[in-house]
Amino acid sequence: MSPAADHDAPHLRRIAIVGGGTAGWMAAAALSRVLKGSVAIALVESDAIGTVGVGEATIPPIRAFNALLGIDEDAFLRATGGTFKLGIEFAGWGDVGERYFHPFGVYGVDVGAVPFEALWHRLRAEPGARPLSAYSICAAAAATGRFQRPRTDPGNTPLHQIGHAFHFDAARYAAYLRRLAQAAGVVRHEGRIATVERGGDRIDAVLLDDGRRIEADFFIDCSGFASLLLGGAMGSAFLDWSHWLPNDRAVAVPSTAIPAPPPYTRATAHGAGWQWRIPLQHRTGNGVVFASAHLDENAATDLLLANLDGTPLGDPRVLRFKAGRRAESWVGNCVALGLSAGFLEPLESTSIHLIQAGIARLLEMLPARDPDPAMVRRYNRLMGEEFDRIRDFIILHFHATRRDDTPYWRHLRTMAIPDSLAGRIAEYRATGRVYRDGDELFTRTSWLAVLEGQGVRATGVDPLAMTLSLDEARARLDRIAQVTQAAADRMPTHADFIAAHCQAAS
Ligand SMILES: Cc1cc2nc3c(=O)[nH]c(=O)nc-3n(C[C@H](O)[C@H](O)[C@H](O)COP(=O)(O)OP(=O)(O)OC[C@H]3O[C@@H](n4cnc5c(N)ncnc54)[C@H](O)[C@@H]3O)c2cc1C
Repeated sequence: MSPAADHDAPHLRRIAIVGGGTAGWMAAAALSRVLKGSVAIALVESDAIGTVGVGEATIPPIRAFNALLGIDEDAFLRATGGTFKLGIEFAGWGDVGERYFHPFGVYGVDVGAVPFEALWHRLRAEPGARPLSAYSICAAAAATGRFQRPRTDPGNTPLHQIGHAFHFDAARYAAYLRRLAQAAGVVRHEGRIATVERGGDRIDAVLLDDGRRIEADFFIDCSGFASLLLGGAMGSAFLDWSHWLPNDRAVAVPSTAIPAPPPYTRATAHGAGWQWRIPLQHRTGNGVVFASAHLDENAATDLLLANLDGTPLGDPRVLRFKAGRRAESWVGNCVALGLSAGFLEPLESTSIHLIQAGIARLLEMLPARDPDPAMVRRYNRLMGEEFDRIRDFIILHFHATRRDDTPYWRHLRTMAIPDSLAGRIAEYRATGRVYRDGDELFTRTSWLAVLEGQGVRATGVDPLAMTLSLDEARARLDRIAQVTQAAADRMPTHADFIAAHCQAAS
């Protein structure tokens, strides 16, 4: 092929991002940084429609996204009023009055080929056996409101095992990303899209209601629950998961800041839903997620307002949604990111992660003008698997419960669950083993924390645990717990760490 012919091959020249919520600006910031002006990027958003405006708790992979963007963590937290997150405290999930902590990082250390959890299971019935949280630096630090960043040298300390993520103000986060994206050349158009112009299996342009026409080679649908392009113009079917995840409403309200913000999210189960508490520097984010079949909006609002750790700042706002995902996240020259691709309720703070995962895969597979069908299939398979595994993990929290106090919980504990999850629970009961399926998001630590925390008990003991004498197993676990607690006790408080590194102006 001559150089001229090569040059004439259809290139990717213009990308249009539809939507300026968290998904739209995350995509704009990442693509503009990576593509360095080689592709023109336009973003369309409608001030009149606005954004969903929630989504303030994250999980550790977000740090890789920040690194991709070259974001300084302290500057980012100052700009967004952010705090650090070491995990989630679950209150009232296994049964009324119970609590457990799902930490980031890991539990203990494996002893050669013997997984930590195998040793823990072997000794769990012994007098004086400790709970799992005694072996997690994140859980131990969270229990006394402490935080520091992980040490980079492993040393002889669990401090290098600290896993952390952030809480931040969603509006400030979108504004922060917008500044980065616009500085990198992204052109913003404000206006309402009235029509999506399709030519064959491609989208050619979007038309705004004032007549402006925005053409592109490739479209990224970040239009939120509307799924204007992928669901609307391209017709990707919605896989409805509300029979497993019946919560379909949330009512949210911010409240005054907690003076010493805890370094974790709290999820408190109620009779027909649950409540989040996300502590920021300048305020606290709160909301009740519930099933409208079991609780009406007024009752949910009353429940929320009666259970705040501060004074409400503004009026409660109701959001409506349905759990599920689009069958294909990528059709033709359109990929969806964020709520337009699917939504799983915010129990494990996975939505922003799914946006990030979609962006990372899109960058790996960024097409020339005409996407390769095999690559599109691969993208859809990988994103579908990612959604489905997260779905299973979230269903686990609702299904593996001993709560019997309301029709809502009785339904959830007795409903049929996906075979993939049923198999995992059965395997855990029989063997005590937890595993990470391929490159799934949730690790052994997460599965163990939630299975045990929700009261699922293993009957079998891993034969590998028997390769240590009982005394040696005891000594190992004692040592891990002691070192973990001592390391946590030496950490600064979360409030002091923020004051020293990333205090927001207001
Ligand atoms: C109750 C609740 C709590 C949540 N909590 C968390 C959490 O703690 N952690 C987490 O990771 N995620 C959470 N999420 C999810 C998170 O909020 C979203 O993933 C994230 O905000 C991304 O939203 P989005 O950008 O896809 O959509 P949106 O914020 O809805 O943005 C859609 C954009 O599209 C534009 N748009 C739509 N239609 C048109 C049109 N016709 N013309 C022009 N523009 C248009 C809108 O103006 C807007 O700019 C939560 C979600 C809900 C509902």
